[in-house]
Parts: sequence; structure tokens; C-alpha cells
Amino acid sequence: MYRYELDLVNVAMRRNTIAHVDTGAGKTMIAVMIIKEVALSLEKQPFEKKLIIFLAPTRNLVQQHFNVVRENTGLMVEYYHGGKVTNMEGKKVDDWDAAVWEREINKNEVMVITHQILLDALRNGFMKFEMICLLIIDECHHAIASGNHPYASIMKEFYHKSVNKPRVFGMTATLETRKGVSSAGDCEAQMTALEIILDSLVYTTQNRTEVEHVKQSASLSYSFYEPCEVDHADLKLKLDCSRWKFEVQLLDMQLSLQRHYKDTDEKHGILRERLSDDHDKIIYCINELGLLCAYEAVKICIAEAPKAIEKCGFFEDSCSKCLHFLEEALSIIENALHNGHENIFELEMMVAAGYISPKLYQLFILFWSFGGAKEVSCIVFAKSVITAKVLDMILKGVADLSHFTASYLTCNATSVDAMPTKLQRETLESFRSGKVNLLFATGVFEEGIDMPKCSTVICFDIPKTQCSNVQPWRKARQTSSRFFIMLERDNVQQIEQVCDIIRSEHSINDNACVVKPSNFEETKSYHVEETKPHQMRALTDHVLPNNEDPTENISSKHTTEPPPGAGTTKRKELHGTTPIRALSGTWGDDGADLYAYKISFKCNLVDVKYSSFVLLLESKLDDDVASLEMELYLVSKYVNCKVSSCGKLHLNAEQAAKGKCFQELFFNGIFGKLYIGSIYSEEPRQFLPATDKKLWNSSYMYFLLPLESLDTFKISWEEIDSCVYAIEFVKKSSFSRAEKQSVDLIMTDSESTNMIHFANRSVHKDVDITNMVVLTIHTGKIYSVLEVLQDETAESPFDGDVKQFSSFKNYFKQKYEIDLVYPGQNMLLLKQAHKAHNLLVDFNGEGILHGKKIKGDTYKLNKDRQRYYARLPPELLIIIDARIDVVKSLYLLPSLMHRIESLMLASQLREEITGHMTDIHIPISLILEATTTLRCNESFSMERLELLGDSVIKYVVSCDLYLRHPNNDEGQLSSVRKWQVRNSTLYNLGIGCRLQGYIRDMAFDPTRWTAPGQLPLRSYPCDHGVETIEVPIDAKYHTEDIKILTGKCCDMGHRWLGSKTISDCVEALVGAYFVGGGLTAALHLMRWLGISCELDPSRVNEAIKVASLHAYTPKLDLLQSLESKLGYEFAVKGLLLEAITHPSNQDLGGGYCYQRLEFLGDSVLDLLITRHLFNKHSDIDPGEFTDLRSASVNNENFAYAAVRRNLHTYLQYCSGSLQTQIPDYIKFFATSSTDTNSLQTKKSPKALGDMVESIAGAMLLDTKLNLDEVWRIFELLLSPIVTPAKLELPPLRELIEFCDSKGYFVKDACRSNGNAVIAELRLQLEDALLTAEGTGTTKKVARAQAALNMLSQIEKRGTSRKNNGKENREEKINNINTKEKEKDITETKVSISDTSKTDIPVLESIKTQKGGPRASLYELCKKMQWPMPSLTSSEHKSKTPIEIGEGVDKRTGFNSFESRISLTIPDYSVIELTGKPRADKKSSFDSAALLILYELQKLGKLKIR
Ligand SMILES: [Zn+2]
Repeated sequence: MYRYELDLVNVAMRRNTIAHVDTGAGKTMIAVMIIKEVALSLEKQPFEKKLIIFLAPTRNLVQQHFNVVRENTGLMVEYYHGGKVTNMEGKKVDDWDAAVWEREINKNEVMVITHQILLDALRNGFMKFEMICLLIIDECHHAIASGNHPYASIMKEFYHKSVNKPRVFGMTATLETRKGVSSAGDCEAQMTALEIILDSLVYTTQNRTEVEHVKQSASLSYSFYEPCEVDHADLKLKLDCSRWKFEVQLLDMQLSLQRHYKDTDEKHGILRERLSDDHDKIIYCINELGLLCAYEAVKICIAEAPKAIEKCGFFEDSCSKCLHFLEEALSIIENALHNGHENIFELEMMVAAGYISPKLYQLFILFWSFGGAKEVSCIVFAKSVITAKVLDMILKGVADLSHFTASYLTCNATSVDAMPTKLQRETLESFRSGKVNLLFATGVFEEGIDMPKCSTVICFDIPKTQCSNVQPWRKARQTSSRFFIMLERDNVQQIEQVCDIIRSEHSINDNACVVKPSNFEETKSYHVEETKPHQMRALTDHVLPNNEDPTENISSKHTTEPPPGAGTTKRKELHGTTPIRALSGTWGDDGADLYAYKISFKCNLVDVKYSSFVLLLESKLDDDVASLEMELYLVSKYVNCKVSSCGKLHLNAEQAAKGKCFQELFFNGIFGKLYIGSIYSEEPRQFLPATDKKLWNSSYMYFLLPLESLDTFKISWEEIDSCVYAIEFVKKSSFSRAEKQSVDLIMTDSESTNMIHFANRSVHKDVDITNMVVLTIHTGKIYSVLEVLQDETAESPFDGDVKQFSSFKNYFKQKYEIDLVYPGQNMLLLKQAHKAHNLLVDFNGEGILHGKKIKGDTYKLNKDRQRYYARLPPELLIIIDARIDVVKSLYLLPSLMHRIESLMLASQLREEITGHMTDIHIPISLILEATTTLRCNESFSMERLELLGDSVIKYVVSCDLYLRHPNNDEGQLSSVRKWQVRNSTLYNLGIGCRLQGYIRDMAFDPTRWTAPGQLPLRSYPCDHGVETIEVPIDAKYHTEDIKILTGKCCDMGHRWLGSKTISDCVEALVGAYFVGGGLTAALHLMRWLGISCELDPSRVNEAIKVASLHAYTPKLDLLQSLESKLGYEFAVKGLLLEAITHPSNQDLGGGYCYQRLEFLGDSVLDLLITRHLFNKHSDIDPGEFTDLRSASVNNENFAYAAVRRNLHTYLQYCSGSLQTQIPDYIKFFATSSTDTNSLQTKKSPKALGDMVESIAGAMLLDTKLNLDEVWRIFELLLSPIVTPAKLELPPLRELIEFCDSKGYFVKDACRSNGNAVIAELRLQLEDALLTAEGTGTTKKVARAQAALNMLSQIEKRGTSRKNNGKENREEKINNINTKEKEKDITETKVSISDTSKTDIPVLESIKTQKGGPRASLYELCKKMQWPMPSLTSSEHKSKTPIEIGEGVDKRTGFNSFESRISLTIPDYSVIELTGKPRADKKSSFDSAALLILYELQKLGKLKIR
């Protein structure tokens, strides 16, 4: 054994080591010695299973090592490689499962193994990495051969992430794994990369010269520090708020200054930047260095502030805002330090409390490791100036390190932090002379500056991979004897960063080689080559500062970006759910005064009956919750539910106790379980009401009790008593079954044969027991009786799934230990009460083009149905004397109560917002919509309101800014507006008002809903580590992990929400208030949220006054002509003049131009158009709504309108470019076709669109903010406003237009197939049903593709698909009056129980007013996809007055109209009818439509209620 090898083993036992050894048996022997040493140390802890893993890349090596290890150690050793069969199963290693692995692991102490096998075993979880205590890696250089070599994967995926890391010993004979690269530098890079990946250091000795050669600077080490665990999120939030506050103040001051100071913007811009810089510096220090350092950082910033303020001069007030922010930040951090742990002296404790970061602590440890020697000279490189300064300050306060004389050296010519050149030179001089022995520096020692000689260099931060950042490293490594790089433990990213740096460093070297091939020998020559451009400066021998890379400057962007995520979809946050206050009750068993609300149900099928219920609770419900009316959708019917208030009611103690019994029995019996525990679990099987389980909770207390009849309000106590009795009966019988049986046996045989014996009583055979409600005694389930099974008794052969029982009797005996008393009785066929389903959504409705598309899982329902039937002997059933209607109603209650509870929460929020204000009353349904996300799968969600709210906020903010800051230009106003309406601002407001708890983000899950008194079937215990219902605002409850699912609640109500959902909800609420209560309500809500906006009328008057001073008389003719074009006469002509004055004309005119009005008008049109689309298209989905809005609200569109209405001639401008642009555009406009599509290709002059916007702004002021009046004018001006059909891709648009003209309906259904979407279109013609499919990446494309197919089919059939002129052969009713038709459709309720054509649709009612019958018929045809009927009318003239019409419509006239209607029902027939004579054409159409509706009913094609 050589000396070298002994030394190596010693070192390897102390630290992770990479050894450079030759191939051959010798190297295995080194490994064997290490294995023996480690195995020896393992004997001290014999109870823990530990493994030694010996990795090799090839089979041969594995076998070779195995032999050596087996021969030279007494250990249990085995080898494994791909394809090897070693164990008794004879399976190949690749096919082993967990059990085989476990056996192998337990058997052996050393495993010699190929890398891939180990990696697979680890990845599959067959082997735990923590079990490994020594990892020997042969040919370890493979780890850097490529990023995904198994060696690298093992280290990255397991080693670096592991807490209990094994010792690593790597062996390599060469580092030249990559072809063609063999320079010394490259070797070094590879060596470093290898060191980092293996977390090991290369071992070198003096007598190994080739190793020496490879490592030029032998002193590089990595100093690992722990990741920081303290987050200070609260503190950071406070600082953010503070910065926010002062930024607003700055903005405000900026806006209040007179506009004629041209430099105002610039100055304020700089100040805001400075404020934000300071803030970022503080946050950076908190994150990287700890609280104490942040405190020092603030002090440093404050010390530098006065200089800046002096320079401000006139802007002193604004400047002082920056200082005020710093002062506030100082006190915030001071408080945090004081409120924390007062008596922390130990450094470890300071780390734990977050006062100093683990990274800084590690730096101290490094310092201590140098010992107390004075001759140390050390440079610490930091990335940012503030770090260097703060480290310098902090170090002076650490007593243990007083032997250091520290200073800092920073420079950045462009920054306020720049250190004067003279001072820099002095500092460097004192370091050289030894007066200073510790220097904190930023990347100042770049090319051209002499790096002072020093003994130690520490890289506190890893520089970015850029040559300018990397070079000081290399120089430092060349001039110093020790070089440390600080790395966060397990931070794979940082490790890769270092590898990248070394690689890039060497790629530079290699390039240098190429440039100057004669100089390949010495590394120094590369140095000269690279630094050439800087040599001129170096010649002066002055330490000239080189510009610090601006991106490395702490004050710039990259540290500003985090705290990112507020208000984005990427960030998810944990939030609680606000409890519903009104559901809590203080009453127990002692009776209570409760508010009563009657719930009645009415099914669309007349013969289906439901029992009425009463909801009893302690709080009074809001009026609109108390008068709720809604529909629940069952498989083939729907039920209308009505809630009505019935005043107060007193329950005495006995009644309250009985009520509880009813609820416990039915809700657990139907939706939960009445027996808990089982013989298999620890909890014994018990009858729930007999246990001491706490089923009632004062935060969730209400009663749902049945009423006696539909009409009267009388609680059905008899039925409730029957429940009490049933519970008592089970309690008794389960305790003493024998007693009960003897009672039953008293009956004589003759009586017995005529009776059906139930568990609690016997019923005569002639009594009709159908629909009787029963409770099974052995399973606690509730059934209703369907029929007596005449051929089956309990003695019949058991035919269930399990064949081991000879008969039913035998089954009950074995399974439940029940001896049947009357085994000869006929069994009963029973139907189990339904489990709860989500009845809130109509799953039967099929998607209709542009309608809501919801798919149901009817398949699942059918599958479930089988389980609902049972056959049981009567004696196992307890009769409950309750109507089947009660049980049926119970099925409806979970869905209904879910909606009521949602509404109660929404009403609670409404009360928070409006308090007891009476003048603002927003319908509760709107609040519910605004707090409901798409994920809830309801027929409504917040998106549409959100888009509207977005426009409202923008309008209000714009208007407020415009009025409050009359002297600021639109650029300034825009920047403030942008900042006020951005998502993160709205997010902060939402969180500030605790809106998050009110957001509904999960679909109704009936299996998780429980009634009071009901035990949940499943539980989701909280694993969030939050003990309160509300989750505190803390960064530890924020994540960007894509695997975290949003929506699902734990039992505490915590759930992950997308951060953006909160800002969306803020917008949606504003939208809801705007829809429900107009601008006044929206303003109230915005004030509640904390947006301070006043639309003060006196300011409007001021604005008008200013504009009225514009001299307009010379242009009066022009203005009047424009007014007549617009159809609006301005009271203040100056406003209109301003609105048409282009900035280029500003100086010629009165110093005004349209820009400010344009700023205002932009938001006005945005709001008006959005509102219009919102009201007009209630049935489109949010995505389409967004598309519609962006297609309508844009400058191009406005410019188009300007030209179409000839408004462009009025624009007052003085610009050469406009003089050519505008006529160009007009010319293009005139020559191109009227198709708006081709217009899009020509870019319009922006000025034209701007003018339209500013006219809107002017009109708003002139009407004193009357939005409706502005819309009256602009609706005409901008018409036609796009409709959904126009937005479709051309083929589908054409198809829809074709169908509209012919009166056909297209239905579409989309399904996804992997990444593709398949769209199916169905078009019913009079004589055929056409279908077409299309595939595409999006729904839109797929539909367009399908439409294309459909169009070609139509063409093949010879039907003209082009609409050549108006086909005037017949009039279709859908062409009659579009406006009227659309209005009525939304009001007419047509419900179709099933879309399959065999079922008969039901028409709720026919509106008899004008247009009503046509609308009903239209809706019916649309649903049934029947082609629209055609109508022809004829006019009859009479010389004598005739009486026409009936009732109110009755009148006399000389003309009358009669319409003939023809309706084709595909695959059925054509119905033709003539309506009654009417005074006008449209009424005669209605008459015909009405007749045909009744005719359809007669034919059985329609049901009219
Ligand atoms: Zn939780």
C-alpha cells in the first residue's frame, strides 16, 4: 500500500472525495479499504439497516469489483446488472418488484451495481436513498458527460435533495471524456463541475504531478449554507403597503403641480424609481441577509437621502416622500425586531429568528475558520452595492471578528451609490498596505483593474454567466491562495449556475486559443488576449471604475419582479371560507323561537307530488333569500321550488328534541349512514343515534321538517313522532333482540298467515303497502315498498353476488347473525331512497349554438340505478309512518339548501358592503354570480360581470382623474390610471376587504353536503397547518406549484385559490353593483373597497367652464354642421371644438387639443359598448364576450365609423403626414368592398379613432356625465355593432347567415379527443338531417371545419348557399322583427324535458302580447331544430268597417290581414293553417303562430301548460 493511498483513505473518511486513480485492481482495493472502514463504523449502530453501494458503469466492472470486494471483506455482498438473474425467482433484475428488492436489500451489506439499475430502483421507490451510507462511484467522470447520465440523475434527484446524505467516494482515471476538448482549462471546468455534482473535493498530493497540473489553483472550496426558513411575509406586506402609500402620494403631488413645468414628469419619475429602488433594496436584504441587515440597509438609505433631497430644490416636498417612506420602513423593521425575541445573543438563535440569514451566518463561520491571524487579507465579492455596505456595517458589530479591519469598495458611475474615484483609490491603497484586511466589494475588479494580492477570496453571491462577471473570479483565483464559493445547500439551480460559469469561462479561453494559436501553452497568454481592449486604461495604472453591469445593480428590475404573482393565475394562495353567520343557533334541546320559511315543490309532471317542508332557523333571512324561487333538474323532469316566509314559530323542548330525531334518522339514513363502525374496524358497529357522537354544532343549526299538506302551514308531528319511535325501536332491539322475538311469537298461527310481519308491527295482507316507507333494522337504510314478491321467501335460494349462502335466511344468519322468525314470509321488493345528486344544473339540455354548453353524466346515473333495488323479508323492516312524498322531497333538499346557503353567504357579503343603507339594493343573485367562479359548474359565473366591472372601474378612475387634475396631460393621467386598475392593485383591495372568504370556487358536491344532525360520509381533515378558519396572509400559504389543485376544501374550509380569482372577483362585484344599482351603487362599492373616486358635479362645471372659454365663433358653421351629423347639439360648443382639435393644431389654436378628452372618451366608449354587449348577449360564454368586446372597442373600429359617417372632414389638424394618411385611408375605404374584413388590412390613421373617442368624452361632459344620453348618440354612430356570428370564422359565419335566411337552425356539440377538438354540426332541412364533423386544435377551428363540410353538402344538394339578394319567395317569421324577437325569447320559457325527438316538449306559457306567439314558436323550432315555418299574408280591403280581433285588441277598420303558416316537421308532415284576420300584418302572424301551437298540442307534438 502506497503512502498516497493511505492518505487518500484517511481523507475520504473525513470528507467526500474524488480520487484520481489509475485503472486496474489497485483502485478497487482503495474502495475496499473505505468499505471496511465504513462497515466498522456501522457496527456501532446495528439496529438501523444501512447499505454500501458500489456503482460502476459496465457489467464487466461490476463483476470485477464484486470479486475483489467479496474476497477482501467479510461482508455480505452481491452484484447486479441489467439482464442478470441472481435470485431464486429467476427473474431478471429489470423485472424485479418491490418484494424482491426488499429481500435483496435485507440480505446484503454491499451491493455492486450498474448505475441504471440503481437509478430505476430509487425512482421506483424500491430502495430508499436514506438507507445508503456510502456511495462509491467508479468512473465518476461520467456524471458530467451529459446532463442526464444516470450518475448525474442519481445525484441531482436523490443525493442533493436528501437530508441524510451518504458519504461519497468517486474514482476516475481521466477527465477527458469529451472528444476534442483537452485543454487544461477545460479539464479544470470539468473537475469543478464534477466536484459540485458529487458534492466532493478532488484529492491531490504533491507527488502526483499530473493531478497537480490539472488543477491550477488548488484552493477552490465550496461553502454550503442552509436554505432560509424564515420568510417575514407579514413584514414584507407592511413594507409593500407603505411603499404603495407613498407612491400614491408622489403621484398625487405630481398631478397637482402646474403642467407648464416641463421637467415635472421626469423628476417625479426619478423619485418614484428611487422609492421603488429603496424598497427593493430593503426587501432584498430581508431575503438574503436577514432582518438586522435590512435595518442597517434602511439606515444607509436614510443617510444617503439628504443629499438627494438637497439636489431636488423646488421638488423638496416630493423628495421628502422618499425619506418618509424610509423612516416608516425603519420603524416597521424596528417593531418587528422588538416584537420578536428581545434577548437573542446567540447567533444560532438569531438565524432561527430570521435576524440574520443562514448565508450570512455561514460567512461568519468562514471568517472564524481563518483563526485570529492578523495577516489574513480577504476580499468578499457581493453582487450588489447595498450588500457590500451592509456587510461592512454588520461586521463592525461582531465582537468575535474584531481582528478584521473592514472596508467596502463599490462603484457604479451611473448610480447614486457610486463611490468617488478618489475614495476608491484610497480604499484599495489601504488594503494593499494592510491597514484594511477585509474588503467587501462589488464586481469592481473587472478587466483592466489590478486585483490586489490577498490570501482569501470569498464569492458571497454567484455572478451571472456573463464573461464580464466571471472574469474577476478567475483573476481572484489566480492571485489568491484560497477561494470560496458560497452555495445554498441542495440548490441544484445554483450548482448548475456555477458549472455554467466555469464552462463559459473556458469557452472564452478556447476561443482565445483559436485567435492566437501560438499562445496555447500558458494560461497567462489567454489573459492578455482577452483583456486587450481594456489595456489602454490599465496602462494609466489608475483604478478606474468600470461600469457595473446595470442588471447586477440591486436597484434594477430583477429583484423588483418578486414579490410577484399577486393577482396572477400562476400564484395560488390558501384561503379560508367565511362561515355563514345566519346558520348559527344558540338553541339546544330546550326549545327556541325560530323564523319559519315554507318550502314548496311543484313538478312539471302533474302527477308527481312532493311534500312541503319548513326551514326553521334562529336568524331572519334576507327578503330575497326568503322569497327564493328556483328550479331543480331531475333526470326527466324538473321541480320548481319556492321559499316563503311564515313569520316566527316557537318550538318547545320536546318538539326540538323530536325535530332532531327526524333529521338524524332521515338525513343519515338516506345520505349518510345510520350504523357506524364495523366488525372489521376498531370502532364497534353502532347505531348512530345511540352513540354519544356530537351531531349538532351551534355554528350550523337549522331544522328541515315536513309539513302536513301543501296548502296549510302545519308541521307534520305525526310523521316526526314515527321517526322518534323508529329510533327508539332500533335502540331497544339492537340491545335485546331475544326479548323482541318472544313478543312477536305470541301471535297465533291462524292470525299469522293473514298478516305481513314487519319488525315493529304486523299488517293485514289486504292492506296496500305500496310506497310504504321502511327502515331496515340491520343496515339502517331507508326504502319504500314497491311490491310483495309472491314467489320468493327467505328460504328461496340466495342469488346474490356471493354464492356461499344456501338461502336468504342463511345469508342473514351468517352475515348479520339474524335468525329469521318468519322465513316463510314473502319477501318485499324495495326501492332505496336516492343518494343526493347535484340537481342545480340542467344536465339534459344539449348545447345550442352560442348557448351554454354543459355535459352531464347520465350514464353514471343509469348505472347507479341498479343498486337502488333490494329484496328483503318484512320482519327486518321497521315501518315509518311517513309519506313517500316526504322522502322524495328529502332528495331535493341538499341541492336546494346548497343554493340557499350560497345565497345567505352572498347576502352576508352584501350586508358587509352596504350595511343598512336602504337606497342601494343589489339583487342577491348578482352578488352570488359575482362570487361564483366557472369551476363551480353553475349556470352562472363571474366572468361576464368581471368584464363589465373592469370597464366600470376604468371609467370611474378616468373620470375622477380627468376632473381632479385639470392641468395634467393625458400621458400622465394614463400612467396613473394604468397603475390604479392593474390586477395587483385590485387584488390588494380585495384582500384588504377579506373578499377571499366569500369566493365560491368548487362545484357543489352532494356527498360532502350535510344537514345539521348528519355525520359526513367522508372527511377531509385539514393538513394545511392552519388552526383558524381564516388563513393568515403569509407567503408560506402562497405557491406557484402547478401540482397544487385549487378549489377543493378541507373540513376547515381552507382551499387553494388562484390569486387572480381575487382580483377578478373585485371586478365582478363592481360589475354586479353597476348592473344592479347603476353608477351610484358601483361608486359606493368602489369606496368600500378603498378606491377613492368622486365624480363631483362642481368639478364637471369647472371643466365645462374652461372649455366654454375656447373661441369658437369663427368655426360656428363647421361645428353646427358636425352637430347635425352627430344628431346632438352641444350646449358648450368649446367642448366640441376641443374634441376635434388635433395636437398638431394646438399651437395655432388656443393651446388646447383633444388628447385629454380622448383619455376620458376612451373609457366612456369602453364602458358603453361593454354594457351594451352585456345586456344584449346574455347567453354567450365569457370567451366570446371578450372577443366581442375587443372587436368592438378598438381604434380601428372607431376610425372606420368616423369615415363611414363622414366625420373625418371636421378634424382640425396641421400635420403633413396626416394630410396624406387620411386621404389615403379614405381612398382605400372607397375602393375596397364593404366587407369589413378587407378594411382590417389597412391601418387607419390613429387620429380618426381618437377623434371619435374625444367626441364621446366631450359629450359626456356636455351632458354632465349622462352616460345614457351619450349612448343614444353613439349607438347609432357606431352601428352596426358586432354580433357573435360575425366573430366566427368565415365558413361558420356563412353557414349561420345561410340558416338565418332560410329559417334553419344549426346545433353543435363539441368533444375533445386528446389534443384535438371534434365539432359536430347538425342541420335539419325540411327533408333531411345533415351532419358534418370537423377537427381542430380549438373549438373555433373545429367548428369552422365542420361548417365547411356542411356548406359543401348543401351545395351538392343543389340548394343555393349564396344568398343572392333577398329571396323573396316567402317570409320567415324570424326575419320579421329581429329586435322584438330577441327581446321576447329571453322572456319566454320553453322547457323541453328531453332533446330526443320522441319526447314531447313542454311550453310553460304563451305570451299573448304582440310578438309573443311568434317568439314561442321560434323558440320551439330552435329547440326542436325544425325549420322555421313560412308565413304569407294577404290583405283584404273592405268598403264597410269590419270588426277584427278579440278582447283588448278588438277594433274596427277597413283593412285586415290574414296569414297562412306552413310548418315542416321533419320525418312527420307539413302542417298548414290560416290565422284569423287582424288589423295589421304582424298581429295576423301572431294569430297564425298561436293556432299552430295549439294544433301541435292537438297532434301530441307539444304540451302547453
Ligand atoms: Zn385546512
